[in-house]
Amino acid sequence: MQVDLHTHTTASDGELAPEALLTLQAAAGTALVAITDHDTLAGWDALQATVMVARDRPRVLPGIEFSVTAQQREVHVVGLGFEPSHPQLREVVVLQQSRRRERAERIAERLEHLGVRGALEGAEQLAAGAGIGRPHFARFLVASGRVRTVDEAFHRYLGRGRPAAVRIEWPPLHEVIDRIHVAEGRAVLAHPHAYRLSHRRLHALAAEFRAAGGDALEVAMPGLAVDQLGSLARLARELRLRASAGSDFHRPDAWNLPSRIPPLPSGLDAIWDEWV
Ligand code: AMP
Ligand code: MN
Ligand code: MN
Ligand code: MN
Repeated sequence: MQVDLHTHTTASDGELAPEALLTLQAAAGTALVAITDHDTLAGWDALQATVMVARDRPRVLPGIEFSVTAQQREVHVVGLGFEPSHPQLREVVVLQQSRRRERAERIAERLEHLGVRGALEGAEQLAAGAGIGRPHFARFLVASGRVRTVDEAFHRYLGRGRPAAVRIEWPPLHEVIDRIHVAEGRAVLAHPHAYRLSHRRLHALAAEFRAAGGDALEVAMPGLAVDQLGSLARLARELRLRASAGSDFHRPDAWNLPSRIPPLPSGLDAIWDEWV
């Protein structure tokens, strides 16, 4: 069964609206999709408000991608299949949004010191009602001619250790996993390879995730080399974590498309089995 359990829409830093994402997923043959926007359920909420033709549309599972702290760094946890109206889950979402708002204000102050005017308003306009993320600042820096590409904006201004990077205290891993569980969802450690950790450190992170009650590792993602896929699969088996699959889709003209998600390596329990 073809699934994509990690995607973004205009509700955070993706470029397609939720309905357009589902159309793209249907064309790619996805049967089950989770919209996992950064720290928000606005995409899910928007879908509930629309009357879509249910035919030829993938099933949608409630989802979210939380920013958390683990091993003294920022890590992402994808929550799946929870009760989307659960008050204890909604409470974290509201808190995360206020953390993001505060960070956005501080990023704009930094940029102001660097001679970039009007960044908060600019990013806000580009976010068009979504919570402001660094990509919105990056797009503003491109639009105002400061840099040529979003990537350059991260390299020169917004990335780790750059002059407009603002460190933020995301909640501890176990706290967020607990909330996902209280709402009857499952917690997935997102894109483990993206943290660029040594094998030993990645093992420590995955073990902390497991000890905090985490359910699955994201294993099948586009762009992984064969040995990376194999080593994530081994890690999941070793720690008795289940496995998830997702593209981390943000926009149609990128390389990480749903059609590029590789099949799950053998000997793993698919996290989505409980929803199909
Ligand atoms: P935020 O969650 O607001 O801190 O923004 C992080 C998001 O920015 C990630 O989810 C990516 O979508 C995007 N991102 C991170 N690094 C880069 C980069 N170097 N170039 C382009 N986009 C990036
Ligand atoms: Mn993103
Ligand atoms: Mn992420
Ligand atoms: Mn993501």
